[in-house]
Amino acid sequence: MPEVKGGYQLPATSNYVSSSWQDHKNRRPPSQEPGTDYGIAYGSTLRAPEDGYIEYVKTSASGAMGRVVKIRLNDGQSVRYLHLSRITVNSGQKVRRGDVVGYSGASANGKDWGVGAHVHVTLMPGHADTFGNTLDFARQVGADNDITIAFSQKVANEQNFLNAAQGEKLVVDGLAGPLYRAAVGRYQQYLKGRGWYDGEIDNAWGPKTQAGHEKRYAEWVAQTTPKPNPAYHRATVADLAELQWVNGLQKIAHLYGYGKGQAQSTWMDNKWGGGSQAGLQRFLDQNHGGSLAAWLRAKWGYTDNDDLWGPNMKAAAARAEAENYKAL
Ligand SMILES: [Zn+2]
Repeated sequence: MPEVKGGYQLPATSNYVSSSWQDHKNRRPPSQEPGTDYGIAYGSTLRAPEDGYIEYVKTSASGAMGRVVKIRLNDGQSVRYLHLSRITVNSGQKVRRGDVVGYSGASANGKDWGVGAHVHVTLMPGHADTFGNTLDFARQVGADNDITIAFSQKVANEQNFLNAAQGEKLVVDGLAGPLYRAAVGRYQQYLKGRGWYDGEIDNAWGPKTQAGHEKRYAEWVAQTTPKPNPAYHRATVADLAELQWVNGLQKIAHLYGYGKGQAQSTWMDNKWGGGSQAGLQRFLDQNHGGSLAAWLRAKWGYTDNDDLWGPNMKAAAARAEAENYKAL
């Protein structure tokens, strides 16, 4: 049993906090169970932060919390992990720091995808459930996690690359296990075949592997960087018609001669008529070569070339709408 409380291991290999304990308390109304949200990919391995035992599990996705694991820690505190996709422990089971207790998800309100993918970590000062009285887990994470994270991230990056570029099927979980080491051996052989590796086939990702890998990686990046898709140039003002929020865009249209002769009171009406289209097209013609996509790319963070009117383009249009609605 640790002498000092805290010094916990992170639940997953990322320390990216998507919503802090204080953020939860600042919500209006405040969260009923303030905790730390770690934004991690669906299905990430979740580990016990310290020695203890499983007090209970909730395997149904119901309620705001979805699937839950509660761990009584031997230091006298307890943690709850919420929104899991899968639980791999049973109540009463002993766990050691770092033991797998389940996999992250987005479960809530009876659905597997009831919220965005993350794990919510509640730290309670005792062993009883005290939802209104919680502590900031992020402040009690141990310093040793920096190294753990850096190592896990490095291995995960390597595994991701081997999967994507070399056709391996590794489960990316930050571990350097036998399957991963065998894949590294195959990769060394591949690099050797191309004259990019001159060491022994030793299944470890050492400096010689890294040197060969850098050549392969540069080639792979060149092969896989998407070419601009000319289709995006065909995005037109008419495509905006499928969006219901057009007031902000109509502000621009108005300035550029929306529906000449129409009364001011009718121009912001949530409808995307011919006048609105003509006005916005005039704006685009004069400022962005007539291209709606070019305008969204230049000003509103639309970066894809190949996803015509997909989620990225819609999000950029939404940003344009929101800002132009406030003030052009
Ligand atoms: Zn949360």
